[in-house]
Parts: sequence; structure tokens; C-alpha cells
Amino acid sequence: MRFLELEQYKVKYPQLKHYLTSLDEYLSKASETGHEVVPALLAKKISSDEGLALALLMLADDAGIVRPRYYVYCDLKDAVISEYDTKDQIPERIYCPFDDEEHSRQGFHVELVFELSREARGMTT
Ligand SMILES: [Zn+2]
Repeated sequence: MRFLELEQYKVKYPQLKHYLTSLDEYLSKASETGHEVVPALLAKKISSDEGLALALLMLADDAGIVRPRYYVYCDLKDAVISEYDTKDQIPERIYCPFDDEEHSRQGFHVELVFELSREARGMTT
């Protein structure tokens, strides 16, 4: 166990104990490499569906280990145009520097990822 903050959830949700251990290992690795966590990749890694992976990351968010980020991708260039903390902040139209024009909802897609919080980087033991 590296993120002790996750221990409380093992007590609260004993049926998730196994998954929380896998989550802990995954997040510890992510904190070393500095990569953000993509729910679909986590799901694959811990052999769960994406819904469960998302639920686990919500717990890690609750524990202050990760925080959600919404990455907006240009559909044409498949590159990140902008980032937001909440879904509500995403505007209807976003300027894309790669195409030098504004894209509407038809021209971009949003991906939810989880970044390791600043606190988490100092949390691992
Ligand atoms: Zn674009």
C-alpha cells in the first residue's frame, strides 16, 4: 500500500478491496512517471469495465490523490486544444490553433482524464 488515503475505502467498500489495491499500484506508477490516468487504460490494466474504473478514480479524487481534467481534442488533428477543470466550463465553440479557426461541438471531442494532484506527488511512501 503506497497511498494510505485509499485504506479507508477498503473498509468502507470491502467488495472493492482487490480493485483498490490494483488502483493503488497503478497510481503509484503514474505518480512516478507523471502521466495522467485515462479511465479506459486503467480499466484494461485492472481487468474491470470503464464504469468501475471511473468509480475508483472518483474515490481517489475524493481522497485528494487525483483530480479530473477535461481535455478537448481537435477532431481533425487529434491534438489537445484546451483543458478544463469541469465539464460546465467547456464552451460551445473553441478556437483551435492548429486549424486557426473556431470549432463547434461537431469539430472537437472531450476526453476525461485524471491528473495526480500536487499533494499526491508527495504522498507516496
Ligand atoms: Zn482543429
